[in-house]
Amino acid sequence: MFENLSERLGGVFDRLTKAGALSAEDVTAALREVRIALLEADVSLPVARDFIKRVQVKATGAAVTKSITPGQQVVKIVHDELIATLRGDEDPGKLKIDNPPAPVLMVGLQGSGKTTTTAKLARRLTEREGKKVLMASLDTNRPAAMEQLAILGTQIGVDTLPIVKGESAVQIAKRAKQQATLGGYDVYLLDTAGRLHIDEVLMDEVQAVRDAVTPRETLLVVDGLTGQDAVNVATEFEEKVGVTGVVLTRMDGDGRGGAALSMRAVTGKPIRFVGLGEKTDALETFEAERVAGRILG
Ligand code: GDP
Repeated sequence: MFENLSERLGGVFDRLTKAGALSAEDVTAALREVRIALLEADVSLPVARDFIKRVQVKATGAAVTKSITPGQQVVKIVHDELIATLRGDEDPGKLKIDNPPAPVLMVGLQGSGKTTTTAKLARRLTEREGKKVLMASLDTNRPAAMEQLAILGTQIGVDTLPIVKGESAVQIAKRAKQQATLGGYDVYLLDTAGRLHIDEVLMDEVQAVRDAVTPRETLLVVDGLTGQDAVNVATEFEEKVGVTGVVLTRMDGDGRGGAALSMRAVTGKPIRFVGLGEKTDALETFEAERVAGRILG
């Protein structure tokens, strides 16, 4: 799993063959390679720097056991630290959606995969947890997005709130709440409008919706291939709206998943799910080990 980084570190340690403990120079030389590996995996620079500092403290003076090479030892320390950073205390797959009907707000930029993820999540909650789910699109600017959610709902057998022209996002959210209560739904997912970039109008609208329904979970959907951009988006949404979890989409692509580490380090919020394709069953619970392996390459 770690051949690439191990090989690189092997090269570094060939020049520095000292047994016993890892010296400061050994570690510094090795961490230069680790830093490159992180940056190549699209981890943001400040996060990579911080991470390296923490590993440096842990690795310097660490005893090198006989059975593994110093390179392998550093890779193990890096790997363990990656897992510790990526994994939170909470069970990522378990949303806090007791006390029906529980509102879940889906937020993110346009094109991040928000609508698809809403349907994926609805399907998962229905099929795996036996929940009765209602979905509603709040994207009043893009009728096509509303239609898209309705089509997905029909495909997966999940109800969507009927579309009423001329309503504001807040009005739709309130109607969803009412329908979810009257209809005995366990959960209602609100697919908020996205924009191409973060702007105030968008944030004001999401805030107004949030205040109207008090969501139990606010899930930020971000494109896992976008690296630093994804982190900026997460920071903005966390500040303005408050986020309870992150969904990284397009993790089926050939990106190395560094956005996961940056996201977790910067927002401190758990990554709950990863999107692994366009189909509505392509959503998996986030696994720190898998992503750590990918980042190390
Ligand atoms: P929205 O504008 O944020 O609602 O984005 P959409 O849900 O419409 O998704 C935009 C495009 O990304 C669509 O073509 C989706 O099929 C695709 N998409 C969404 N999630 C994933 C994913 O996890 N992997 C891949 N490969 N494509 C995805």
